[in-house]
Amino acid sequence: MNIFSNNSYDRHEKVLFGYDEASGLRAVIAIHNTQLGPALGGCRMHPYASEADALTDVLRLSKGMTYKSALAELPLGGGKSVIIGDPSKDKRPDLLAAMGRFVDSAGGRYIVAKDMGICVPDLRAMAEHTTHISGVGECLDVEGKRRDGDPSPSTAYGVFCGIEASVEFHLGRKHLEGLRVAIQGLGSVGYSLATMLRKAGAELFVSDINAASVERAVRELDATAVAPTDIVALDVDVFAPCAMGAVINEQTVEVVRAKLVAGAANNQLATPAQGDRLLQRGILYAPDYVINAGGIIDAYYMDHGKSAQSLKTHVENIATTLERIYHESKRFRLSTQEVADRMAESRFMATERLAS
Ligand code: NAD
Repeated sequence: MNIFSNNSYDRHEKVLFGYDEASGLRAVIAIHNTQLGPALGGCRMHPYASEADALTDVLRLSKGMTYKSALAELPLGGGKSVIIGDPSKDKRPDLLAAMGRFVDSAGGRYIVAKDMGICVPDLRAMAEHTTHISGVGECLDVEGKRRDGDPSPSTAYGVFCGIEASVEFHLGRKHLEGLRVAIQGLGSVGYSLATMLRKAGAELFVSDINAASVERAVRELDATAVAPTDIVALDVDVFAPCAMGAVINEQTVEVVRAKLVAGAANNQLATPAQGDRLLQRGILYAPDYVINAGGIIDAYYMDHGKSAQSLKTHVENIATTLERIYHESKRFRLSTQEVADRMAESRFMATERLAS
């Protein structure tokens, strides 16, 4: 397994491998860049097919966090962690305790939060062994209601605001009434997004590998169920990926029929080439780490005790950032991903230059 020559290794500051024989923990923490602040990012638990897949995932995700926090104008760097294992079978208290100790061993350069396969009670179990943790307290959501530390509603709200801005830019429509949206993945973010879109009058098409989530959306949100294999190529206005990454790859990029791709999943493009191809095909792509930044903004605001109103305003700013990216993309005929990357780099690399 290659590390420094891995295609996804990009000047990462630190990559830590955690192993605990007693609990069976096998985990990786990747710290991409800490120029703007400590590396805050979620912990994902997934039954990776191989250790190399786990490493590639954590390297890609952690780099994305550097770019995400920089463009969201937060004083944070980029990091992420993965646990190799099946969250439905392998998640035991001793394993979570070992993960907490592993996070602690990074000495605060990495701050752990929630990601796929890890929920708030899991974070609380880790918090027994480290203080470098985000999202374990009670706080207020964007509407001022009390809730636990799960940032998913803020992520969903940011994606919702981003879809509104993208629809206005690309389709010239100011409202979402009758908009046809395909959502892949009805988990914490996907279901919350579906609820907001339905409230705004959108027509929903949904898929999830968990049949119960699909049934619930059909029942509660009047959604149309779609097979997981068919959702990418559905003839809709918006395709919103809210499950795993690399959903837009060499094959799928040719079959997307939506006019816009805008969803919560991290690393939606398998490679930057798919960003170029979407541009050529006239499909507007909302760069994932820009549109899904509501969660990291939420985590930062919660950790720093800021008000629900200021959190809401900051999350809504995602729409303004996307508009800037779309205008630059049109002006320079560059993919929206490329424009977003350049904007983010100008922030965290400028700090690097000042520090050196
Ligand atoms: P989650 O685990 O709660 O939900 C994921 C859902 O996707 C599950 O319901 C799962 O069954 C489904 N799924 C998995 N593979 C699928 C497939 N092939 N087809 C259809 N459905 C499938 O996760 P989440 O917290 O909702 O996060 C969703 C995505 O958004 C992830 O990529 C995550 O990294 C990203 N994200 C989440 C947040 C957050 O605040 N939770 C923030 C930023 C980005």
